[in-house]
Amino acid sequence: MRILLVEDDELLAESLAELLDDAGYRTDISPSSRSASALSASEEYTLVILDLGLPDGSGLSLLSDWRDAKWSVPILILTARDSWMDKVEGLRAGADDYLTKPYHEEELLARLEALLRRRGSHFSSLLEINNLRLDEARQQFSVDHQEWQTLTSTEFRLLRYLMRHPDRVHSKRHLLEQLYALEQDAAAPNLVEVYIGRLRHRLGRERIVTRRGEGYMLVSV
Ligand code: CA
Repeated sequence: MRILLVEDDELLAESLAELLDDAGYRTDISPSSRSASALSASEEYTLVILDLGLPDGSGLSLLSDWRDAKWSVPILILTARDSWMDKVEGLRAGADDYLTKPYHEEELLARLEALLRRRGSHFSSLLEINNLRLDEARQQFSVDHQEWQTLTSTEFRLLRYLMRHPDRVHSKRHLLEQLYALEQDAAAPNLVEVYIGRLRHRLGRERIVTRRGEGYMLVSV
């Protein structure tokens, strides 16, 4: 089980990661909206713990972006904002649960377990756009209901990102950041062109459009 912990308070994040580690979860810490967004696109998570007050914007708008992009991972908001209005706003924006700081460690763990139990029954890892289907668990795609084909991990991460954000133009630089968010060395910019070329070859050219000088877009119709 891998958890994305979005929390800018370094001390709290470290101690929470330790608690989660002891409970058997693997945790990635993200101190900003921007890095959380990049990690969510490139990595596979079972659950997200989300702080609302982040240095580069509100956790609420990140949450809305994720839900708009049909990312269905369970999300628990963990915040100091404790009014009932804040809770209503967070749950309506797409959170599955809401816990306020300071919190009891046992309660947090129990809530995470409850979320994972609920997820078991209705979680779907299938993205579908215009007869293009992507099975996130198996890293396979299928076009027009034909047979499933396996993607390499870079092809998969690029396609998943484009499918979670369809009908929007993404610059090469932005896509590169999504693909290599966790890596130390900067990757060569033309890698994106290479992988877009491969995806077009496998999915059909017309699905990914080039906007000259701007970037690439996966079209949903
Ligand atoms: Ca904060």
